[in-house]
Amino acid sequence: MERIIEVKNLKKNYGNVEAVKGIDFYVDSGSLFAFLGPNGAGKSTTINILSTLLTKDEGEVEVNGFRLGEHEDEIRSSIGIVFQEGVLDPLLSVKENLEVRGSFYKMPKEVLKERIDKALKTTGIENIASRKYGSLSGGQKRRTDIARALLHSPKILFLDEPTTGLDPQTRKNVWTTIMHLKTEEKMTIFLTTHYMEEADMADYVVIIDNGEVVAKGTPSYLKDTFSNDILRIKPKNTDELEKYLTAKSIRFEKKIDVFIIRLEHTLDSIDIINGTKENIESFQVLNGTLDDAFINITGKEIRE
Ligand code: ADP
Repeated sequence: MERIIEVKNLKKNYGNVEAVKGIDFYVDSGSLFAFLGPNGAGKSTTINILSTLLTKDEGEVEVNGFRLGEHEDEIRSSIGIVFQEGVLDPLLSVKENLEVRGSFYKMPKEVLKERIDKALKTTGIENIASRKYGSLSGGQKRRTDIARALLHSPKILFLDEPTTGLDPQTRKNVWTTIMHLKTEEKMTIFLTTHYMEEADMADYVVIIDNGEVVAKGTPSYLKDTFSNDILRIKPKNTDELEKYLTAKSIRFEKKIDVFIIRLEHTLDSIDIINGTKENIESFQVLNGTLDDAFINITGKEIRE
């Protein structure tokens, strides 16, 4: 597969703060790539460098085949960016905002009109095109921000926490738009998010912490490698179950009416269940989550 972004030994300091300490990763063309890390890890610094907003200190970066430091204009034409805080005018309508933005790209009027229609359609906001941006809901604003980033038909879309602060239903709608861009428009999506269920949908994940890459792989690789499956037991006889687990030195956590046991290996659950069957009402073995993997890798909650 073609690599649309390639980063080698990227470094950036702010004075004596080493924000990015020589990171390496690449992004496959057409993939959904999740770039994760706790606050202060170096995500924004990296994204700002890749998108030409900030200069690097050291390292090699190629975006869509163009070398950073030599072909900034070509890189800028290759990418769209949606920042956390919207940049559109609240008093203009959705369409007017897109027209103003589109006028930066110096394309013929008819082409711009086509691009605006396409962006409205792709993001599913045709029906609100005449509403003032400032009057829109959070999810509508977000989709308008995405439409704005699509006007010059970029190959790569950078989305910095696109669903933060949105309610779950709205997050789903925005997510549908993102998946549509990947599957229908074949765009490469470079995503940062605090929601692990979103990162779980990525083709590939890179986790950074303290300016260094601390883990990378597919979501299933990260879960298999860095998280534990969980055995959840509803007791029939709480005291006896607790006695058994304690006698066997099996560590557990007691919640109101369930026992939670972190499994080293999924199959360990069989011996535990068999050993104390008569004290068990019911049980479940749950797969480890990406949240769990993240905490095990970084020692931190992602939202800390
Ligand atoms: P993230 O996006 O993962 O939260 P950042 O890239 O914003 O991380 O920050 C990485 C490190 O660099 C942090 O220690 C942060 O405090 C520091 N930093 C970021 N921007 C600046 C700046 N403009 N001046 C000084 N330090 C900065």
